[in-house]
Amino acid sequence: MEFSARSAYRGGMTTSVALGMPRLREADPDVSARPDTPALIDRFGRVAEDLRVSLTDKCNLRCQYCMPEEGITPIASDRLLTDEEVIRLITIALDHLGIEEVRFTGGEPLLRKGLESIVAATSQMRTKSGVNPDISLTTNALGLKHRAQRLADAGLKRVNISIDAIDREAYHQLTRRDRLDDALAGAAAAQAAGLTPVKVNTVLMPGINDDQAVPLLKFCIDHGYELRFIEYMPLGPRGSWKRSDLITAEDILADLSTAFTLTPEVEPRGSAPAERWIVHENGEPVGRVGVIASVTRPFCGACDRTRLTADGKIRNCLFGSSEVDLTSLIRGGATDEEIAERWRAAMWIKKAGHGIDDEGFLQPDRPMSAIGG
Ligand code: SAM
Ligand code: SF4
Repeated sequence: MEFSARSAYRGGMTTSVALGMPRLREADPDVSARPDTPALIDRFGRVAEDLRVSLTDKCNLRCQYCMPEEGITPIASDRLLTDEEVIRLITIALDHLGIEEVRFTGGEPLLRKGLESIVAATSQMRTKSGVNPDISLTTNALGLKHRAQRLADAGLKRVNISIDAIDREAYHQLTRRDRLDDALAGAAAAQAAGLTPVKVNTVLMPGINDDQAVPLLKFCIDHGYELRFIEYMPLGPRGSWKRSDLITAEDILADLSTAFTLTPEVEPRGSAPAERWIVHENGEPVGRVGVIASVTRPFCGACDRTRLTADGKIRNCLFGSSEVDLTSLIRGGATDEEIAERWRAAMWIKKAGHGIDDEGFLQPDRPMSAIGG
């Protein structure tokens, strides 16, 4: 369908207050002020063009910053979007809402059986600029060794792989599983399949993997991977996050500077969350490193993301408390444009910032694994 101007949504909003709890309805006073544009614009002028699709809330790791040891109660299977529903929603996002990039995530997206066919269907779509969407995957890479080539053949372009330690014991302690070798094999297979640049995501936790920054960067440089540190955010097991325990971007850069010389990347950052540095060793540039300072240097003002959860809810922010349900619309026979209007309304009310540092900050009800990181 053509990317053409549509009238703004004038209806009420659906807000989910807790996973599995009844949803409250609340009128949003601002929705009537939304300009008449098909794009996913919000009240602060940001336009979302980057869609994060969570394909499952299940995972085969139990990273301490993300999941409790016992896991979380999974979304009931009849509430999960089917492959066809996921593909329809991505099509609407591209055809009606101006989405340019699609990233699949979770939970662990490799646990979704239909991943290859969802990627293949997405890669056949066109964005408003007439090109195929940019498709990427965030994964822990367990089992990627056997699927990287198939995913590349299906149209996947790049991967971000979570590897929080290069020391086997530290990886085991952080993820509560002894699977470092599988993650490394997955990264190597991704690189061999051309899913490049392979980016490695690392979250440092005090007393667990806080000595891993330098060895991980050495490892990534040696293997041609781009390492990005993400500040630990309050999105894991409730009560486990303390601001005072946070290993900040500043701490990480100070640690890396003991072994490397870092100079800021001159390329403008745009909406990318990572601040990037060129890494020099013995006076020679040897690679790049990024730091995503979500807590201490938030980048909400440049955020261009919209998120679809595995059970069909739109979240306009990782930290937001409101969700807008699309599953009931799809299953109730809504047209593509009706679904697009609901999606636009969900994004219009996005808040200016995540407010982690505000006194009244409340951690979202869903953990990161159920939102889609
Ligand atoms: N399972 C996949 C993985 O680990 O890459 C995809 C989902 S995971 C939720 C996506 C990203 O979120 C990972 O890079 C992970 O490190 C990050 N993440 C999870 N919980 C986090 C937290 N509390 N703070 C910062 N990053 C977090
Ligand atoms: Fe699983 Fe990814 Fe969360 Fe780790 S960060 S528990 S791999 S969803």
